[in-house]
Amino acid sequence: MIRKVVLIILVSFFLINMCQGLILAQGQEEATAQSQVQDEQQKEERLEQAIKYQNAKNVHFFADQGYTILFLILFLFLGLSAFLRHQVEKITRKRFWVIFLYSLIFILLAFIIGLPSSYYGFHLEQKFQLSNQNFGQWFGEQLKAILVLFIIGLIIIEGIYFALKKAPKTWWIYVSVVFVFFTVVLVNLAPILILPLFNVYTPLPQGEVRDRLISLSEKAGVEVEDIFQMDMSKQTKKVNAALTGIGNTKRIILGDNIINEFTPEEIEFVIAHEMGHNVLQHIWKVIALSSFISAIGFLIIHLSMGRIIHRFRKSLKIENMADIASLPLFLLIFSIFSLVTLPVIPTYSRHIERQADKFAMDMTRNPDVAVVAFEKLAYKNLSDPNPHPVIEFLLYDHPPISKRIKFAETYK
Ligand SMILES: [Zn+2]
Repeated sequence: MIRKVVLIILVSFFLINMCQGLILAQGQEEATAQSQVQDEQQKEERLEQAIKYQNAKNVHFFADQGYTILFLILFLFLGLSAFLRHQVEKITRKRFWVIFLYSLIFILLAFIIGLPSSYYGFHLEQKFQLSNQNFGQWFGEQLKAILVLFIIGLIIIEGIYFALKKAPKTWWIYVSVVFVFFTVVLVNLAPILILPLFNVYTPLPQGEVRDRLISLSEKAGVEVEDIFQMDMSKQTKKVNAALTGIGNTKRIILGDNIINEFTPEEIEFVIAHEMGHNVLQHIWKVIALSSFISAIGFLIIHLSMGRIIHRFRKSLKIENMADIASLPLFLLIFSIFSLVTLPVIPTYSRHIERQADKFAMDMTRNPDVAVVAFEKLAYKNLSDPNPHPVIEFLLYDHPPISKRIKFAETYK
């Protein structure tokens, strides 16, 4: 829910995290991992768990969407949004500060209303023994996240409502253009400003893994990426790798569990996959697609918001589009639009993930290693290897593991 509060931020964070969840995962069960993977009975139990876990997560996702939309509708149609703006105006009449205070209170309120849903997400991680956090650690991170959200959200909201006031007919064009720049800046700064708030990043030490990486880069004909390891085990037993940042902050990040528990060959495959994202310019392509979709979203808001405000003026008590009390309506329309366009980015994402897998296979040419790596990923991350096709279509930003394994096995 909290992410829904400023939906636009969600898109930005999506970009940052697009390559996370990516690749390989492994937990903390130390040296026994290898034998566990091979143990058929345990494998079957694990598969049952994975299906239960993924089903629960899917239900939670859609319930959370409904919950967010319901909150926004109630907040609007009970006149609470206009009431809040009215109260803020008693403190200050300056437009900038009215917007600032309203947004601050609204984000905080949405955070509190959304806590049960966020907590349920954490509860699921604990229930399926994927989390390494206790409640206090988890809640501390939620507070940090809301601070980041305050800063980014306030900048975005002030910007949008400035445009709505100054250019009521063309605001959506300006906002769409600025949004692209803002996203690029945010994706660029995230690895140095935002991500370190939650984890410690250290350069990958000298050793076999680093040596393999260097020869891999030469083979791929790309410059050596900065590679960092992060203390991901602080939060989760899941394991992950990612390509984050753009320009001078571009780097491959490996979770500590991968480094501790994957064989150097498997790590090489992971890195080759991330390099594929870099060589094929995937982050830029996703930024372009997200920007295009957001621009359509802003246009739809432009075409519909004024009419809705007029049609329901008695219950909404919103003066016009530039009235900050229209913020929940702005988010409501964007939420519904995001639901309608839900499959677009995951579908494109699965496409580029297949490309990165192919790149990694071309580089490493070792299907056996890839298959084991994928199996470990599914095992440790409780991935459902064969989700329902509709769920895959709507939510999966990576091909299901069964398809990735099949691809590796049939790779020639
Ligand atoms: Zn990937």
